[in-house]
Amino acid sequence: MNNDALVIFDFDGTLYPIDPYDSEQALLLAMAQDNNLWFRLRAHRLVSQDMKGQLVGRAFHHRYASLLKHADKAMVEHIGNTLARHLKSEDRAALLSLAEHADLGILSCGTENIIEAFLQEAGLLQHFSFISAKRLYWDAQGSTRMVVSIDGPDAKAQATNALRSTYSTIIAVGDGPTDLPMLKAADLGLVMNWKTNAKTYPFPTFTSLEELCSCCVAHLVKAKEASPTAKR
Ligand SMILES: [Mg+2]
Repeated sequence: MNNDALVIFDFDGTLYPIDPYDSEQALLLAMAQDNNLWFRLRAHRLVSQDMKGQLVGRAFHHRYASLLKHADKAMVEHIGNTLARHLKSEDRAALLSLAEHADLGILSCGTENIIEAFLQEAGLLQHFSFISAKRLYWDAQGSTRMVVSIDGPDAKAQATNALRSTYSTIIAVGDGPTDLPMLKAADLGLVMNWKTNAKTYPFPTFTSLEELCSCCVAHLVKAKEASPTAKR
């Protein structure tokens, strides 16, 4: 990976369709099935508030970290593995061919361990230069510690701007309101909408990863041709 171009992806809702739960909600509900009533109530309340958009950034992260204190590593990875089934072979092929033109990275408010398992299962992990979100670390007793790298929409934009010194062209891809600052900070912002053709945000919108990746490649080829160092 030695490109001067980068394509940044959000994870939940961008690399797979949310239906109806995102990856962290799915993990909380899976853990609730094996837990006591106290845990189940707290987990279901957190998921319900999150689905209504009532929790932003750290308001969610603190309660999520607390509920995941004794999360089973295999279960966390299982959520990522399961969600990877949403990716069709043409989606994977499109991402692989995009990786020939640019470095790929993830900036997400989700959980790095789930994202890593997703990419691993899809055979894409080695094609991503970085995953920045929040990461769970397990100690010898099996308790977790959570380190938050991206705590909200502005952090995504700041991380994008920080990558400017490394890359001459940055494309960002997202699906929702938390991605808008990142899409604005990039040279080209694109929206993935798995469900409808409706254009909800003022950015080019795609219903397939294949078409979205083709648009990225076309933009990158054009940017390379326009670059002052391009061979004539
Ligand atoms: Mg998203």
